[in-house]
Amino acid sequence: MERAAVPGRLGDRLRWRTAEVTGRRVESATAVTLTLDVPGWPGHLAGQHVDVRLTAEDGYSTQRSYSIASAPDGRNLDLTVQRTPGGEVSPYLVDELVPGDRLELRGPVGGWFIWRQQQTEPIVLVAGGSGLVPLMCMIRAREAAGSRAPFRLLYAARTPSDLLYRSELRKGAPGLDTTYLYSREAPEDSPRPPGRISPEDLARGGWPPDFEPTCYVCGPTGFVEKTAAYLVLLGHAPERVRTERFGHSRG
Ligand SMILES: Cc1cc2nc3c(=O)[nH]c(=O)nc-3n(C[C@H](O)[C@H](O)[C@H](O)COP(=O)(O)OP(=O)(O)OC[C@H]3O[C@@H](n4cnc5c(N)ncnc54)[C@H](O)[C@@H]3O)c2cc1C
Repeated sequence: MERAAVPGRLGDRLRWRTAEVTGRRVESATAVTLTLDVPGWPGHLAGQHVDVRLTAEDGYSTQRSYSIASAPDGRNLDLTVQRTPGGEVSPYLVDELVPGDRLELRGPVGGWFIWRQQQTEPIVLVAGGSGLVPLMCMIRAREAAGSRAPFRLLYAARTPSDLLYRSELRKGAPGLDTTYLYSREAPEDSPRPPGRISPEDLARGGWPPDFEPTCYVCGPTGFVEKTAAYLVLLGHAPERVRTERFGHSRG
């Protein structure tokens, strides 16, 4: 039943479309948000992603997945891409694409790692690095829908200068609590010393299992697996812990 409600027919979602870059916003020293105009876009749900395909002049082609950062808004999509040093695709998207350029994409993809405005239960969002992107889409979709579902976000970043959507998160929203967890370097006024995410962080910054929140965890594979295991250890039902893995980090 859930899957039937995903926007667009399957054939339509599998079709490659040409998108034009209409905007580029620097988020941090290593990440940009690209705004794309996608004619015929069927719409999306918060948490879904697209496949992006790049083709070289000699015909060599490669594709990667990128989560949608923007709340559903006609045929415009925002993607936030973090540069992976030495990576094949992300340095090109971050450093070389400019407004007026085109790329191919297909989607939306994903029917499980999504938040719908009909959900009224408490929500725990746990992001590691660029894993914030689909969770930010959920936060934006909540606001756009006027939802009062109580959201708690735990955002793990290496240092303060790595933060994405800094001013938007600082501004906040009624019913949204944000906890920052720095792994390498924390601001002087941070109540928590730098370190990896722990069960105590999740107990302090999330909702208690008794409230039966739905938990969404996204980021590098190791971060997601550890965090999901901690949530279950704390008493959250495994079926209430939804995960999205972005791939293996080189640490
Ligand atoms: C469903 C899904 C959604 C995603 N959404 C986003 C998003 O919104 N924003 C975003 O920036 N990325 C996102 N990613 C990750 C993205 O698809 C690429 O894996 C990433 O951009 C690296 O691609 P690359 O071609 O630059 O590096 P590659 O050439 O593929 O890899 C180069 C090296 O980097 C390592 N590596 C691969 N992926 C990562 C990673 N995520 N972190 C650290 N090291 C890595 C590899 O192990 C390899 O050693 C998502 C991945 C998935 C599966």
